[in-house]
Parts: sequence; C-alpha cells; structure tokens
Amino acid sequence: MSEQLKDTVVLNPEKDDKLKNVNSQNGNPSGATSGTAIQKETPKPVTHPDRRPIVVIIGAGFGGTHAAVSLANSDMDVLVLDRNNYHGFWPLLYQVATAGLEPQSVAYPVRGLLRKYGNVNFQLGEVTKVDLEAKKVITQDGSLDYDYLVMAAGSANSYFGNKALAKETLGLKDLDDASKLRNRLLESFELAVKEEDPAKRAKLLTFVVIGGGPTGVELSGAISELIRHVLRKDYPTLDVFKARVILLEAMPKILSTFRDSLQKKALRTLEKMGVEVQMGVPVDTVENGQIRLKDGSMIEANTIVWAAGVRSAEVADSLGIKLARQSRVPIDPTLQLENHPEVFVIGDMAYLEGFKENQAYPMVAPVAIQMGKLVGQNILALQHNRPLKSFKYFDKGNMATIGRRNAIFDAFGIRMTGFLAWISWLFIHLMSLVGFRNRLVVLLNWAYNYFTYDRGARLITGKKLEK
Ligand SMILES: Cc1cc2nc3c(=O)[nH]c(=O)nc-3n(C[C@H](O)[C@H](O)[C@H](O)COP(=O)(O)OP(=O)(O)OC[C@H]3O[C@@H](n4cnc5c(N)ncnc54)[C@H](O)[C@@H]3O)c2cc1C
Repeated sequence: MSEQLKDTVVLNPEKDDKLKNVNSQNGNPSGATSGTAIQKETPKPVTHPDRRPIVVIIGAGFGGTHAAVSLANSDMDVLVLDRNNYHGFWPLLYQVATAGLEPQSVAYPVRGLLRKYGNVNFQLGEVTKVDLEAKKVITQDGSLDYDYLVMAAGSANSYFGNKALAKETLGLKDLDDASKLRNRLLESFELAVKEEDPAKRAKLLTFVVIGGGPTGVELSGAISELIRHVLRKDYPTLDVFKARVILLEAMPKILSTFRDSLQKKALRTLEKMGVEVQMGVPVDTVENGQIRLKDGSMIEANTIVWAAGVRSAEVADSLGIKLARQSRVPIDPTLQLENHPEVFVIGDMAYLEGFKENQAYPMVAPVAIQMGKLVGQNILALQHNRPLKSFKYFDKGNMATIGRRNAIFDAFGIRMTGFLAWISWLFIHLMSLVGFRNRLVVLLNWAYNYFTYDRGARLITGKKLEK
C-alpha cells in the first residue's frame, strides 16, 4: 500500500451501522457471505508465450489508484487510463469552486503517484467503449487489449433526461468544473458592480444550488461565506447582503442520509449563515437562468449549480448490458461482471447490494478505496487459481462541513457537531490528501482563510481556454 494513498476518507457515506453487511442475512441477490473466500467456476489463468498478462484499469480515481497499487510489483503488467493526468480529491472540490483552495492542491499527477512501481504504467486518454467480447478498450487514440479489466471510471451528473438542465446548470465533478464555477461566481460580482438595472443586478447576485445532499450543503454554505466575509470587502459599492444563496431540495429534508438530529442542526446552521433553504418542491425546468419549480414559483439566477443527480460514468453505457439504478453496472460480490469473470467493476460505477436492505453500496470514496484494494487481490487470486473473496465493507461513518467553524460528524462511533466536529473534519481531510506538498498547502490555506477571513484563490482564469 502506497504511503501516499491512505484509506482515511470517511465522509458522507449513506451509513447505517445496524444494517451494514446484511447481504448474507436478507437473501438479496448479491448476498454471498461478505469477506469470505468463495470458490466459483473460474477461467484458466492467462498465459501468453511472449508477454505477461495485462490488466487495464479505467480511471485513476479513488478506486483505480488503489487497484493499481494492490497489483504493484506483481507478475502482471498494469496500465491505468484516465482522461485527466491527475488523481482528484473530490471531497474538497467545493473549496476550489469557492476560491478557498487552488485547484492543484486537491489533485496529484497520476504519473507521480505510480512511477515507483515498475509494472504499472499510465496513459492519458478518454475511453469511449469497452468491447467485452473482443477484450478491448477503445480510446480516441485506438484500442488496447486486456486480459483483465478494472472499470473504475466513477460517476457523472444525471439530469434525468432533461437536456435543458444539463445545458443551463454548472456541475461540480472535476477541476475544470470547479474552476468554471469559481469564474462564474466572481464574474457575477464583476458584472453586478457595473449593472444599473436593479432587476438584472439582483439576478446576477442570485446563486442557486440544486440538491440538498452533502455537496449541495457544503457548497451553498461556502458560497454564502465567500460573499459575506470576503466579497463584501472587495465590492464596497455593492450591497452584497442583497445577494441570495438558495439551496433547493426536492425532498422535505436535506442530508437525507444523516440522522434526523444532524439534519436539523445542518439546516439551522445554513439558515444562520444566510442560505435560503427551500425543501419539498422539485425543480421543473430551467431556461435562460429562470428556474421554475413544480409548485409554479420562479427564481431568476445567473449561477445555477446542479448537485442533485448522479449516475455511473457514461462508459458503462457502452457495455451493452442491462444496467442497474443510476446506470450503475451490476456486479457479483467478488466485483466481477456476470459472464465476464475477467472484468471487474468498482467504486461509483459498480452496483452491489449489501449495504442496507435492497440498497447498493453508496457512491462514496471509502467504498471505492476498499473495492480497489480487493480487486487487486481477486485478480491475483484468479490468475493463481486461488478462491476469490467477496466484498466486505468497513463503514467508518458520515460527516459534512458547514461553513468555517461548523460540521456534523457521525463516524468511528462518535457523534458531534460544531467546532470540534469541524476540527475533526479538517484533520481527516488533510490526512486523506495525496502528497505532503498538498497537505502543507491546504493546511496553510485553511489557516490563512480562517484567521484573515480572506480567500486568496479568487481569480478569474482560463477564460480563453473555455472559448
Ligand atoms: C464534489 C464531490 C464531493 C464529494 N464528496 C465526498 C465526500 O465528502 N466523501 C466521500 O466519501 N465521497 C465524496 N464524493 C464521492 C467520491 O468522490 C466518489 O465516491 C469517489 O471518487 C469514487 O471513486 P471512483 O474511483 O469510483 O471514481 P473517481 O474517484 O471519480 O475516479 C474516476 C476517474 O475516472 C476517470 N474517467 C471517467 N470517465 C473516463 C473515461 N471515459 N475515460 C478515462 N477516464 C475516465 C475520471 O477522470 C476519474 O479520474 C464526492 C464527489 C464529488 C464529485
């Protein structure tokens, strides 16, 4: 296990201690006994006269990098493919979007991570298709053969078939998204300060986040703080207290995977920070910056962020198999694809029940990390005629931060809110970051932001690249 890739991210899993790992008890279809070695019909080990077996891993995220490390120094050649040349630490992405951190401090070059392993290589490229029969991965640059395949391409936004939503809203899935959102937030203020029409100015100063899950809650809180603590001083001629930050949630509660008491605490904290939380009314349409809610009410906003729907990465669609909820790929407890024992699917892409009754393991980093570790062991087991192990999840808990001194924390058997929860959140995130430099830079940024009420990264950049 690489020192740089530590399994310490525990945030926001849809946790329920009592119900975890119930797969063997409730008779669900994926319910083999978790964590035990199981012997099933396995293909013969791969042998080639002129080369070692090739493992291709799609995605250098939480799952993919841990899979690669678990196969390091083995008797196989491992190729990691990613459309970005960096491994991203998404739990801190909202801080990049709100100018609290520089993009490079929450990412690490994949080559830098993997170069110490002689049998592991990296290739930059977008995978467009997987041909299961031919055992080929197709990229824009050509095709690659594999003996074993690990699909770890993560997730994408889901707009439930509503194309307007996709066009009109900003997402938050990688560094480019975060930079775009930061640009939009700051640009709205630059335009507002020049705008004489009060209605247009009000629209420019309205920021809507759709989706009251952890990302929506953390992001809306951080936008509100950016405005109230920092931009207030940058734009003395603007009445920034007229700026609105609105969090829209279709369900009657936010943070639905947290305990009731923590949900209420989060709601109160957000409201104190000036975030308008509207729950229980789904969004109907978004057109030209006008959000129509299902109850007929309208909100005009220049910045609308979509944090409400998530699905498996699009490459799942190319498999030509029946996908499960959220277009995720159904897998066996050994993480293998049915009828294709040489193909493994992990992390956000994978659909495996066993977390709660009839529920799949959630799309969170600890699941991807733990699957990544197991997949390497199972590939080696397959190659060496040993029994494969089924997935056993160690659920560490749940946490989310709300603003500069507040968090809710329900992990490692400890439940707390407020300042102590926030300090714990900071520590766990810091230790989960890849690379000493990143940890140091993030720590310095946090200290600077905390003591000065400032955000050094409030730059509008990359405009020419966006065109
Ligand atoms: C904004 C945000 C905040 C989050 N906060 C938390 C949190 O607080 N706690 C928590 O536990 N989880 C959080 N998550 C979820 C967590 O990040 C994911 O569950 C985790 O990253 C899943 O790991 P993965 O390996 O499946 O995918 P990822 O880590 O997303 O990695 C997928 C990789 O595949 C690459 N890729 C995708 N498609 C292709 C393709 N076609 N070709 C080549 N490469 C491709 C991507 O570039 C990416 O590097 C958050 C996610 C987001 C987006």
